[in-house]
Amino acid sequence: MSAQLIDGNALAQHWREQVARDCVALQARGVKPGLAVLLVGDNPASQVYVRNKVKACEQAGLHSVLEQLPADLSESDLLARVHALNRDPLIHGILVQLPLPDHIDAHQVIEAIDPAKDVDGFHVASAGALMTGLPGFWPCTPHGCMKMLESIDYPLSGKHAVVIGRSNIVGKPMALMLLAQNATVTICHSRTVNLKAMTLQADVIVAAVGQRNTVTADMVKPGAVVIDVGMNRNEAGKLCGDVDFEAVRQVAGHITPVPGGVGPMTIAMLLVNTLESARRTLSV
Ligand code: NAP
Repeated sequence: MSAQLIDGNALAQHWREQVARDCVALQARGVKPGLAVLLVGDNPASQVYVRNKVKACEQAGLHSVLEQLPADLSESDLLARVHALNRDPLIHGILVQLPLPDHIDAHQVIEAIDPAKDVDGFHVASAGALMTGLPGFWPCTPHGCMKMLESIDYPLSGKHAVVIGRSNIVGKPMALMLLAQNATVTICHSRTVNLKAMTLQADVIVAAVGQRNTVTADMVKPGAVVIDVGMNRNEAGKLCGDVDFEAVRQVAGHITPVPGGVGPMTIAMLLVNTLESARRTLSV
């Protein structure tokens, strides 16, 4: 058996087109959704990520501003930029690209973002809203994973989901989103004893670790849904996930590829959140 592929490129395209249509409708009501992206320093990977985000905004008809700031920018100057964007009526979403240089406390900066513009969903107010089931912005990567599960009409209620990784931006919010859909959720991490015993019980595996081949075919129950969040490089420098894709696809029921899986969905959900933020300004 070969698993059915969940095509993140195609699904992201669907969402981007939806955002573009909604954006036109919103503009007709006088609001053009706007995203500000702040990049501090010249980390090459971050530069690629922010360029892709800004390009996706432009293609969907959103207003976007990319501020490239010097690596030696002080924390207080960065906070001042965030506060100015909080007040800017043309900006509905603020994204501070992580990681920040060591002399800046990322926590302070994220907490300075107005939660109403926290389209990355990293503010404690957004995390609290997710935990308590209140409206707020969901972090884009797990949000994208949920849309991938929705796209295959997978009924999560009563299913066992195993999330590998417990970061604040992927693992923990992912687990909360699955729980909200009535899955029984196990969170695994680097101190988990016998990861394979956990994953073999899983109807759904979400791997968000950052290490190649964390999930191998012998760790997967036949027919399970496998979502690969990881972004790694193999010996040849090629992008790959946390899952041994070729072997696991022979066992799984559904699987996401890397590249072309969760990555494009993360950007699509950033657009969805920014649009939603703009829409909310009409109802306040
Ligand atoms: P992170 O903060 O480094 O967290 C990694 C998690 O994996 C930690 O909770 C860690 O456990 C756990 N872990 C490490 N080794 C493990 C092992 N051998 N067995 C089980 N768990 C283990 O990373 P992240 O920010 O969540 O990102 C995870 C991966 O997703 C990375 O490859 C990242 O590049 C990728 N990512 C992709 C996207 C996308 O759009 N596609 C977005 C975000 C992240 P401890 O907590 O015990 O240390």
